Amino acid sequence: MSLLNHLLHIDLFKNPNSIIAEYIWIGGSGADLRSKARTLEGPISDPAKLPKWNYDGSSTGQATGKDSEIVIYPQAIFRDPFRKGKNVLVMCDAYSPAGEPIPTNKRCKAAEILSHPEVVAEAPWYGIEQEYTLLQKDVHWPLGWPVGGFPKPQGPYYCGIGADKAFGREIVDAHYKACLYAGINISGINAEVMPGQWEFQIGPVAGIAVADQVWVARYILERITELAGVVLSFDPKPIPGDWNGAGAHTNFSTKSMREDGGFDVIMKAIEKLGLRHKEHMSAYGDGNERRLTGKHETSNMHTFSWGVLDREASIRVGRDTERERKGYFEDRRPASNMDPYVVTSMIAETTILWKP
Ligand code: ADP
Ligand code: MN
Ligand code: MN
Ligand code: MN
Repeated sequence: MSLLNHLLHIDLFKNPNSIIAEYIWIGGSGADLRSKARTLEGPISDPAKLPKWNYDGSSTGQATGKDSEIVIYPQAIFRDPFRKGKNVLVMCDAYSPAGEPIPTNKRCKAAEILSHPEVVAEAPWYGIEQEYTLLQKDVHWPLGWPVGGFPKPQGPYYCGIGADKAFGREIVDAHYKACLYAGINISGINAEVMPGQWEFQIGPVAGIAVADQVWVARYILERITELAGVVLSFDPKPIPGDWNGAGAHTNFSTKSMREDGGFDVIMKAIEKLGLRHKEHMSAYGDGNERRLTGKHETSNMHTFSWGVLDREASIRVGRDTERERKGYFEDRRPASNMDPYVVTSMIAETTILWKP
């Protein structure tokens, strides 16, 4: 194993200029990530200069028939925390050979919305709180839970410490550092209310980049859990009953919300989000109805509401924003398994572009 370790850490860039690029894309469920690697001449700093590539869509549930080739376009690059050196992770989106975005490619439309001149002028910032659950590999039961049984009720686990309260911290911390190394704007982590459940936050980041970062942060996390022999779940309600679900609260602000007079702009945005509650709910993640029950710090999925410091509202406005009369708000509805391309662009579309 020490020889293996040596081989894994060879610095390729010194001799010759070869680097390894790991191309990442979204698979057929719209939530699974796939990747494969190729050798390129380095160093690499611009995704636009990378070659397009392809994969077999019939093996990812994204194509049928004899010609199942799907073409992937490099969109964002990150330093590879696994291979290190000059090696890179490449977030891609997917197209048919004719150049049409395939159904799981939500990035293409999102990039269109987020590059609209009216949206760009408002410089939308996002902060995404990604919750997730770690599961024991063979039984798919949360980490730290007795197999076939339950831990003590919720209470001591949120931001908790100790061998009987925090399960999986090494994975969480490895992920935190790996994301910083990769160039992801990860702003923090915390243990969640349900034991075995954790959260990381990405942001604030402007525009489409936040969604690229969330996807690559998810990718890095699943690679780390793979090494640790732990299963990663983004199920919005992994354990039914009196156990918290997992969400992806999306914090949002525009330039005019962050400036004086911003509170009125926030109120108008919330009003518009209320008018489109149904459309947003249908795009905020599969199985979200199991999570948004109105209990366990969630809103009821059928009714739109907002409030200052209200954890049972659809939209929560923070204390600082209320006091300073400007700032940002939190959309608490998105599920942990949401597509950040969809959620971020939809919020911009409704609050900036839509004129009801
Ligand atoms: P919570 O109190 O809901 O747990 P967190 O601290 O987990 O909130 O996450 C808040 C997120 O909001 C962070 O990612 C942070 O970077 C982001 N954020 C802060 N200010 C803004 C802003 N003006 N616009 C958008 N997002 C912001
Ligand atoms: Mn949080
Ligand atoms: Mn949380
Ligand atoms: Mn939150």
